[in-house]
Amino acid sequence: MTRGGGPSTRAVHAGEAAAPPAWRPAAFPIYQTAPWTFASAGELEEAYARPGRDALYSRYGNPTVRAVEEKVASLEEADDAVAFASGMAAVSATLGTLLASGDRLIAAEEVYGGTDGFLAWLAERQPEVAVERVPVGRILAHLEGAGDGPDLAAVFLETPSNPLLACCDLAAVAAACRRAGERGGRHVALVVDGTFAPPPVQSAILLGADLVVHSATKFLAGHSDVTAGFAAGAGAMVEAIRHTMRTTGGCLDPHAAFLVGRGIKTLALRLARQADNADRLARLAASHPAVARVFYPGFDPVGRAQMSSGGAMLALDLAGGAAAADAFVGGLSLVRIIPSLGGVETGVTVPARTSHRFLAPEERRARGIGDGLVRLSCGIEDGEDLEEDLSRALDGVPRR
Ligand code: PLP
Repeated sequence: MTRGGGPSTRAVHAGEAAAPPAWRPAAFPIYQTAPWTFASAGELEEAYARPGRDALYSRYGNPTVRAVEEKVASLEEADDAVAFASGMAAVSATLGTLLASGDRLIAAEEVYGGTDGFLAWLAERQPEVAVERVPVGRILAHLEGAGDGPDLAAVFLETPSNPLLACCDLAAVAAACRRAGERGGRHVALVVDGTFAPPPVQSAILLGADLVVHSATKFLAGHSDVTAGFAAGAGAMVEAIRHTMRTTGGCLDPHAAFLVGRGIKTLALRLARQADNADRLARLAASHPAVARVFYPGFDPVGRAQMSSGGAMLALDLAGGAAAADAFVGGLSLVRIIPSLGGVETGVTVPARTSHRFLAPEERRARGIGDGLVRLSCGIEDGEDLEEDLSRALDGVPRR
């Protein structure tokens, strides 16, 4: 695994060494095969004894998938990483591995709607696992107070969160998890969904997380053309999660792995341009009368302290509510309505009607997700063009 060099060097070179030496390809090849072949029954029997180590069957392991796992591990400065067919496969397998009967999970309230759905499913189907939802800003106090106890197995949060970009002090929460673990006599795993701010913008592992999960569908792959997920962290934990992946079957396809690996090579370049565009749009929106509030990690002291930039995501609370959100997205011409994020193209969504529509309206309101909230994922277009599009759309928005 490539350890040396900066994040861009590692993004380009990590994992590539295992390509077949005879042909020395510049791009890691796609091993588009489910099983491999064997010279004898004995050779196959030996491979079964070491699933994933030898070429055997692609759910157990595949060289193209392994190459991108090594890339992600290197990027995250983690011992190891395991790839999944989607971000939700990574989230569910990670939490499913960490939580056993009688365990308790503290999960931030402000998470992706699909993760909300998984946590509700878990609480309903596995009542012997307690799921406690806590606003991300209160997790620290909760860990030192009412949330303490020997049943606590893990803490799960997103920073910046979806859709309000709330930033949580990861080093402080990691230290509180360690203290809770000492009191409870067990390790309390801190799991961070790093989808909104992958390295080099934010390094959750270096800030103290045990595990980081990603929807690689977003920034890591970066071209809105593939679904994928990863869990990265300490070797033994990742090995246990890999076992869950093999057992439950959410493996990444080799062709999808190739696309993710190719995307990661330009991650730092893309993120730098995307962050620059987000900063321009956040500043423009902050001074526009149609906008009641701008949610942007670059305006948040915690975000600024633990991220190398403000990232590529921002959300605007439009003063005119639902009608304003409709007029705004309808008034954009370059920026498209895209129910995802992290691609090279700038996209907009209305979270109350997309990612967070599963929440009851009063629950949404309590979390600050109003009908006038729009979320922008900034792409790599020219900043002036995006500014012009945003200005025009905001000028056409009815104000209350
Ligand atoms: N985590 C976050 C923060 C997300 O935004 C998403 C998807 O939007 C996911 C996880 C799930 O990823 P996927 O759609 O790849 O399953």
